[in-house]
Amino acid sequence: MRLAIHSRRIVTPQGVRGGVIVVENGKIAALEPPGFAADAQRRIDAENLLVLPGLVDVHVHINEPGRTEWEGFETAAQAALAGGCTTLVDMPLNSIPSTTTVAALEEKGRALAQARAPIAIAFWGGVVPGNAAHILPLAEAGVRGFKCFLTHPGTEEFQMVLEADLREAMPRIAETGLPLLVHAETPEPLARARAQLEHADWTRYRTYLQSRPPAAELEAIHLLIRLCRQYRCRTHIVHLSTAAALGPLARARAEGLPITVETCPHYLFFEAESIPDHATLFKCAPPIREAANRAALWEGLRSGIIDLVATDHSPCPPAMKCLDTGNFQSAWGGISSLSLALSIVWTEARRLGFEIADVVRWMAEAPSQLAGFASVKGRIAPGFDADLVLFDPDAEFEVTPDRLPFRHPCTPYLGQTLVGQVRSVLVRGAILERAVFR
Ligand SMILES: [Zn+2]
Repeated sequence: MRLAIHSRRIVTPQGVRGGVIVVENGKIAALEPPGFAADAQRRIDAENLLVLPGLVDVHVHINEPGRTEWEGFETAAQAALAGGCTTLVDMPLNSIPSTTTVAALEEKGRALAQARAPIAIAFWGGVVPGNAAHILPLAEAGVRGFKCFLTHPGTEEFQMVLEADLREAMPRIAETGLPLLVHAETPEPLARARAQLEHADWTRYRTYLQSRPPAAELEAIHLLIRLCRQYRCRTHIVHLSTAAALGPLARARAEGLPITVETCPHYLFFEAESIPDHATLFKCAPPIREAANRAALWEGLRSGIIDLVATDHSPCPPAMKCLDTGNFQSAWGGISSLSLALSIVWTEARRLGFEIADVVRWMAEAPSQLAGFASVKGRIAPGFDADLVLFDPDAEFEVTPDRLPFRHPCTPYLGQTLVGQVRSVLVRGAILERAVFR
């Protein structure tokens, strides 16, 4: 079936233009000028709505199998669709087993096949101490790259790596050409900070912020730059929180090192000064820092040192957030935002004078490149998958629980007013009109 989408505002790599997107067999067959009379069975008139490529979120914890009560393929896919995201790449931890062997990857594949997830879901493999022999087989089995932690990840099944483990893994990963994604905080600065806070009040956000100083991120990033220089392994810093690392990262990039950087909607939207005590919904690691740091992260996006924005959607059952005690030490760290990310980023980006094409670059094109989908996803261009989002950039809405179709409607964005609403989503040319779009 051929489908023609008419819009005055199609966001292409060459800019925003009017025209007709012709879709055939799930692919974009052509991008024609306005008024083009396409020979198509179905016509969609997007009028003034923006047409964006489907977003690609490269940092999502779906947690199935093993912790499906935290999230799951079906609920994550619904939330992604509501947010205009048509491709997810799932993290290797918090599911049981962790994706550190081909057998575990196959188990995830089977769980995904049984779920109704009308979007593309791909997987990162895990690097843990002792699994270097699994790197090549995992790459051959189709993981998009690998993820490791330089500090304790918060669950028992997935172990952090030391420099020696990285020295074993990085040459092997470099051989595959895939990226290594790293949670960049080292344990020693965290332990030092924590030792100072033994008698502190852990219901205060300030205590939590002090327990995860920028030094932990900086130390990790310096180590990764050195190792990247030695092994030439593609290295991706996930969820950068401290803007203090932008200088060293800029110099590493100028040197030609294959390092990419991601930050998250919560670091771009919230500020430590406004987070109330007891508000454990805001707990994530690394933490949300001060307003000046947030402004510097936006400058990192502007200069291109930060390549992309991913959600780090990391849900848990509400009880694990310890909302009753408000204790930041015992609460699970992780923020859910899968259905809201585009609106969150657009709300702030627009206020700061960015264009929608910038947001598309950060949330579709660059993540697609990281995950190896650059020739099929993340752009509106002939030959690409017809993953398309009809987006109203001016509609305002308040975040209410019904806007949160992930498993637990639990997020610090509740009550916020956001700008920009997804109206409809096409996945490989199939129109998904659901109650979640209003
Ligand atoms: Zn994560």
